[in-house]
Amino acid sequence: MYTHNIDKSVVLVVDKYSQEAHIAYSTAGVKYPVQYSRAKIEYTKEFFSILADLSNVQSGVGVFFYRRRIDEPSTGRGFVGEWQAQGEPYEDTLNDLVYEPYAILGKCPNCGSPVSELQEGVPRCRTCEAGLKGHILPLRFALTSVNAYSRYLDDNTAYIDLTDSGRLSTLIFRKIYGAGRERSVNPILPEESAKLRRLLARVEQENRNQLVSRPPSKAMPASLKPIRAYLDFQNTFPISGRGDSYLYADDGSLIFETVLEFWIVQKLGENPMQLVNQLISLKEETVEWFSNQVLFGIGGEKSDVLVLTRDAAGLRKRAIVIELKKDAVNNDTLSQVKTYAYWIAQLATAQAQTTSPFLITPVAVGHRVARNAQPFEPFSFEIPYAQSLEVRVESPRVYTYAVDTAANTLRLSRVR
Ligand SMILES: [Zn+2]
Repeated sequence: MYTHNIDKSVVLVVDKYSQEAHIAYSTAGVKYPVQYSRAKIEYTKEFFSILADLSNVQSGVGVFFYRRRIDEPSTGRGFVGEWQAQGEPYEDTLNDLVYEPYAILGKCPNCGSPVSELQEGVPRCRTCEAGLKGHILPLRFALTSVNAYSRYLDDNTAYIDLTDSGRLSTLIFRKIYGAGRERSVNPILPEESAKLRRLLARVEQENRNQLVSRPPSKAMPASLKPIRAYLDFQNTFPISGRGDSYLYADDGSLIFETVLEFWIVQKLGENPMQLVNQLISLKEETVEWFSNQVLFGIGGEKSDVLVLTRDAAGLRKRAIVIELKKDAVNNDTLSQVKTYAYWIAQLATAQAQTTSPFLITPVAVGHRVARNAQPFEPFSFEIPYAQSLEVRVESPRVYTYAVDTAANTLRLSRVR
C-alpha cells in the first residue's frame, strides 16, 4: 500500500454509550446510513458520503475523539486523545464490541437492522425501535494509542479561550451550527491538531476537568470487508429508490455526487500526488493535506474537496479547491470560488507558514459542461495580516469524468 507524509488528523464523535468500548477495543466506528426493511439493505446517498469521509483515514492518520453530551457536565465531555489509525477502514456487521453495560453493535440483536439512532438520549434500533446497549457502528478502523492524555478538553478551553493562539477553524462552524453539520469523521488541519495537542497537555498539566476512563484493552476481531470494495463500477448494488443498480446511470453519470466524492478522496488517500498531478502538474510541490467537505464560512460555505500543497522548503504554497457535479458544471459552479476565495485563503494561511504569493487553483469536475460555463480570469488580492499576504486566484480548470468499467475506475479529461 502507498505510504505518504500527510499530516492529517480526524475527530470522531463518540458518547457515553460508545467511548469506553472504542478505547477498550482500540477501534473507531461510525454509523451506517442505509435503508433497511424486510431484512434488505438499500444503499443511500448518505452511505457513500460516509464512505467518502472515511476515505480520509489511512494508516498513520491521527485520531481524536470528541465526546458529545448525553447527560454529563461540561467537565466530563469534550476532546479525548490521541490515537493513530492502523490499516484501512472496513465494514463489520457481525461483531459486537461489548464493554458492559454498553456496547458498539454490528447490527440490531432483535431484527438484524444495521441502523440505530438516538431517541431522547437513548440508542434505539431505527427499524424495530428496540432499546439497544449502544449504537450500531459497522464502519470501523483500528487504532493505536499515541498519547493517553488523562483529561477531557472541554469546549470552552477548545473554542473560546484566547490565551492559546489560533483556533479550530474547520471545526468551529460545525460546532456553532451543530445539528446537521456534525459529521462522524471530521478531518482537521495540521495547525488544528497541533492546537488540540497543546490544549490536551495543558488541561492534563493543570488537573482540570474529569479524568478519562481508560479501560483495559480487549482483543479486536479481525477486519472484514474494506470499504473501498464499494467503489465497484462492475457490479450492481441495491440502491435506495432504484432497485439493483450500477453506481452510474445509462447516460454514464454517477447515481450520486457522493460516489464521485468517495472516488476522489479514495484516490487521494491511495496516492495523493498521482491524483493531483492529473488535475494540475505540480513542480517541486507536494501534497500536504486533503479533505472532503471543508467548511470555511458561517453560512455553511464549503469546498467539496480541498487539497493543500507545500513547496520544497516546507511552506504552504497552494490551495486546490475542487467542486464536484454529478451532472453539468455550469457558470455558478465556476464563479462560486470567486466569491469565497478570500475566506478559503484565510482558512489556509492564517495559522500556517506560507509562501507569498499564495495560490488558489479552482478545479471543477462534472459529467458534462454547460454551454454557459465560462471560467473567470485570474485575479489577486491582499490579506492584511501583520505581514500582508498576496493571494493569486488562477482561472478555473474544468474536467469531465467518465466511468471506465473495464478498468473499474473513473477517468478525468480536461475540457478547459
Ligand atoms: Zn431492530
